[in-house]
Amino acid sequence: MIPPGFLDRLRQSVHLSDIVAPSVEWDQKKSNFDEGDLWACCPFHAEKTACFHVDNNKGFYYCFGCHAKGDIVSFLRDTKDISFAAAVRRLAFLAEMDIELDIAMNQTQPLPPILTTKDVIVKCFEKEHFLEIGVITGWTSYIQGHDRLLRSLSWGDSDYSGNVLDMLVAMQSRDDGSLEKVQAYVMRKFSNVTTATTHVAAFSNTQQIIGYTYELPRNDVIGVMMPFGGFSEVYDAIKAACTTTALQAKRADEMWGHSMFMRDIMELVNHSAVVICDLTGRNPNVFYEMGLAHAWGRPVIPITQNKNDIPSDLQAHRYLTYLDNAEGRKQLSGDLAKRLNSLLEV
Ligand SMILES: [Zn+2]
Repeated sequence: MIPPGFLDRLRQSVHLSDIVAPSVEWDQKKSNFDEGDLWACCPFHAEKTACFHVDNNKGFYYCFGCHAKGDIVSFLRDTKDISFAAAVRRLAFLAEMDIELDIAMNQTQPLPPILTTKDVIVKCFEKEHFLEIGVITGWTSYIQGHDRLLRSLSWGDSDYSGNVLDMLVAMQSRDDGSLEKVQAYVMRKFSNVTTATTHVAAFSNTQQIIGYTYELPRNDVIGVMMPFGGFSEVYDAIKAACTTTALQAKRADEMWGHSMFMRDIMELVNHSAVVICDLTGRNPNVFYEMGLAHAWGRPVIPITQNKNDIPSDLQAHRYLTYLDNAEGRKQLSGDLAKRLNSLLEV
């Protein structure tokens, strides 16, 4: 959790105009730089007169044209297309408040159960990590003196997992705070894996119904969810956008015909670094897939030929509209390439 008062102090430490400046050109006549009262053409909509107002003293911006408004965090989030948490993190780094943020976040995160810690260690630890936790906990002689722990790691022996548990149980029974230190270390170093591993238990029910076994996300494809029929040229445009990234597009094609393919859709969503959903025609399957992607924390780029297909709850979500003709699809390809690259760079 972000500590109380942190955002206010962040707003005071970073000038809003410094964050906005790279995205705009200040209107030199209308702006009063000494007073921190600045005007520019709006970065959120196309315009020729400077309707975008930045008030450095209050730390807020407002556009009199499109009514976009907010503070440093929302500006960074919306222009860089990153999450709220990622925006706070970047700003904290700029303000040299990142260490404070890290400490506060670690303190408020509950520690994972011992078996989750074991799973993450088995999956991620190299010898150097054991040496590091030895230094942190004062358990170096136990770790190096254990007759099987490091040896089973380096040989990939089948008793390795049991040896790791052995160590954690020994720490737990000693009750000297070393287990908690190892858990905090594991969370700090492998937070993505820890979170995903904690989720595995919650997904066992889904597994029984759908037949999909939740795996650690690989983030190695761009998932594309769209209705079938009549969308092959749109898909070509999406594929072209994806070639500007290191990842390939993969479409959940024709999967809905058989319920046994549900697991393929889940697998695709889970392994996608980004999910593109074409909401044209309000296809219910695409909405289901988008819900899955949101629930699993995947970034989603909604696209549509008709903005009325975007439900009101999602209007605030940034979506792309396109025309289904050669020029429109080319434009879509360019817009998507920009969004994908800014999402994947974070
Ligand atoms: Zn505007």
